[in-house]
Amino acid sequence: MEVRGPLIRFGLLEELLNLARANSLWPMTFGLACCAIEMMATTAARFDLARFGAEVFRPSPRQCDFMIVSGTITRKIAPVVRTLYEQMASPKWVVAFGNCAISGGPFVFENQYNIIEGVDKIIPVDVYVPGCPPRPEALIEALLKLQEKLTGVRRFPVPERRW
Ligand code: SF4
Repeated sequence: MEVRGPLIRFGLLEELLNLARANSLWPMTFGLACCAIEMMATTAARFDLARFGAEVFRPSPRQCDFMIVSGTITRKIAPVVRTLYEQMASPKWVVAFGNCAISGGPFVFENQYNIIEGVDKIIPVDVYVPGCPPRPEALIEALLKLQEKLTGVRRFPVPERRW
């Protein structure tokens, strides 16, 4: 009991920290191409990302919790994305938003030389959101997945499908 007591308290502290983190995930102000328009729409009144505590887009990577990679990653921008990721404080998460960020999207063809075929070739990714572009609801779903990853609890359970 002498040994387990403090460990249990540290576990509780970690749970509380993760609960706070999950409800105040601040994204980076950062967009690469057309998918960024959908990311911006997510913060507007219709979709209202503020409901989930994630509307505070930060201009500095040092103040961000997660990066939404929204758009095509060219070989020229890839080192910039990597540097921004490295400048973020830990713990940090990455969402690959859209087909370009996941696999290069419609710009990948034979003998192409300047598109990175997925942001996971340069930084680790936590959540993948497919679509060209994905809808704002998909970004909200990605945020719920990140929250679930942190707390272990799904906030709004997906309704069971009845076919
Ligand atoms: S996935 Fe489609 S919408 Fe998104 S950046 Fe690529 S081409 Fe544009």
